[in-house]
Amino acid sequence: MNWLLDLLFPEYCAACGSFLFLNHHYIACEECWRRHFTPYRRKKCLSCGHPVELLPGSGDYCKRCLTSGKVFEFDRVEFFALYDGIVEIALRALKFERKLPVAHSIGRTIAGHLKSFILRNGVEVVIPVPLHKESLRERGFNQCEEILKGSGIVFSPILEKIYQTPRQSSLNEEEREKNVKGVFRITEKVKNKKVLVFDDIFTTGSTVNEIAKVLKENGATKVFVYTVAYTPVQR
Ligand SMILES: [Zn+2]
Ligand SMILES: [Zn+2]
Repeated sequence: MNWLLDLLFPEYCAACGSFLFLNHHYIACEECWRRHFTPYRRKKCLSCGHPVELLPGSGDYCKRCLTSGKVFEFDRVEFFALYDGIVEIALRALKFERKLPVAHSIGRTIAGHLKSFILRNGVEVVIPVPLHKESLRERGFNQCEEILKGSGIVFSPILEKIYQTPRQSSLNEEEREKNVKGVFRITEKVKNKKVLVFDDIFTTGSTVNEIAKVLKENGATKVFVYTVAYTPVQR
C-alpha cells in the first residue's frame, strides 16, 4: 500500500525536491542518492582517519594527531564519506526517524568499498558496535547491524554494551572517553584474530577506541575500524 502512503504523507527527495513516488521510505531519489552518496577518496590521516587536506599536518598525518601525539588502540580507521549532505540526512533518518530501509540502501552503497578494505587487511571477524538493550528496545534495531545486512557482509555480534550511557553527541571529547570506559565486553573469543569494528559515525573515536582496547586485551592481533561517515573537526 505504498501508493496510499504516498498520497497521505508525500515525501520528497532531500536533494532535488522531487516527489518520491513508491519510494516512500527513502530520503532521496535514485539519481541524487547515486550522485551524492559517494566515497571520499582523498588522503586520510594514518592515525585518526581525518581528511588530511581539511587539517593539514605533515605527510600522512593530520595536524591534530601531530600536535596532540594521541595514540589510538585501533590500528587503522577507514570511512566511506564525510558526515554531511545526503549522508548525514540518511543516517539521521535511520536513527532518529527509524527509517529502516535507509540502512539497507546505505549497506548496498558502501558494500564494495567496505569489502575491499576487509580483503586488503585480511580481516577475519566483522563486529558491529552494539547498543545497550534499552536503546535497542527504544529504536527497535541496531543501525550498524542493519547497514551490514544491506551490504551482504557476514558479521558477528559478539560485543555487548553492558551499561547504558548518556549519548556521546551531548559530550565533549574528554567526557566521551570517560563515558564509554568499561561499558563493553565480548561474548566470544577473538584471540589471534584480525577484527574490524563497524560503526555508523566516527567523531572523536572514543567509542571505537574503547572497543579496540577490549578486543586487544582479549587477544585480537589487529583492530580495524570502518565507519559509514566521518565528522571533520570544526575549521
Ligand atoms: Zn533527487
Ligand atoms: Zn589524525
